[in-house]
Amino acid sequence: MITANQAANGGLFIWMARALKEAVWPSKCLVCRSFFQPTVYENYNFPVKIFNDESMLAYNKKSAFHKLMRPFLCSACSTDFVPVESPFCCICGIMFKSRIGDDHVCGECIKSPKKFRMARTMGVYEGALMKTIQCLKYKGKIQLARPLGMLLFFTFIKYWNNKNRIDLIVPVPLHIKRFRKRGFNQAYLLIREWFSYADAFNVELSYSKIEKNALIMNKQTESQTGLDRKQRQANIKNAFSLGNSSKITGESILLIDDVYTTGATADECAKVLIKGGAKSVDVLTLARGM
Ligand SMILES: [Zn+2]
Ligand SMILES: [Zn+2]
Repeated sequence: MITANQAANGGLFIWMARALKEAVWPSKCLVCRSFFQPTVYENYNFPVKIFNDESMLAYNKKSAFHKLMRPFLCSACSTDFVPVESPFCCICGIMFKSRIGDDHVCGECIKSPKKFRMARTMGVYEGALMKTIQCLKYKGKIQLARPLGMLLFFTFIKYWNNKNRIDLIVPVPLHIKRFRKRGFNQAYLLIREWFSYADAFNVELSYSKIEKNALIMNKQTESQTGLDRKQRQANIKNAFSLGNSSKITGESILLIDDVYTTGATADECAKVLIKGGAKSVDVLTLARGM
């Protein structure tokens, strides 16, 4: 139903345009490719309104994923998401099989200590989250950067805001050749709009700065897919160096990546940043292999 007010604001035109688009070119779920009726928010550029009824700090990851992904995924795929929740390792963030008890340090982090202070993530790298990340990275569906970036922002608020102050937000870089081929760095796309989200949700973020050239990837590594932990470490070793203009001395840094697999990339980046004078390095990713 279009109200007189909406019609006056061009609502009728938008409604007709949408109806026509759906008739001629129906929406296809980005994950399963089935046709579906998408949830279209009035102003998707800034979907703050859909979270009006929820407290930001106590947000439910599953319902946030469902709501933000509904314009792109069918109803079944938008619920195919497993959040990463406590109890998990206080350092690397791996979720423990037992779903009871408190967070503690896992055996792997005791055996080989990490250079970063803590890594946190939004969801398990499987199902619709895995497929949407792959669509963004490999199929150039950059319209997914906005909802995924907002989900990452919510995860940031949950684990860092006020508790762990961050001075610099640094996306993990791509090698220049891969960057040119892809045309974008997905880690940067995920954080690009965080300041407007902070404004919209009244979150104080003014003490943080995005520093997208703090790190450079100077070695074109082989794809990490299919490599085990040791091979990944060897593959990524010495792949990163500090960017020329980066001022990181004494700064608390948050490193951003799309996926945390064995932690080899995050640890290698943290090593370079700490060596360059950073006070601490934390890691935030959208997804984590479990
Ligand atoms: Zn689907
Ligand atoms: Zn751990």
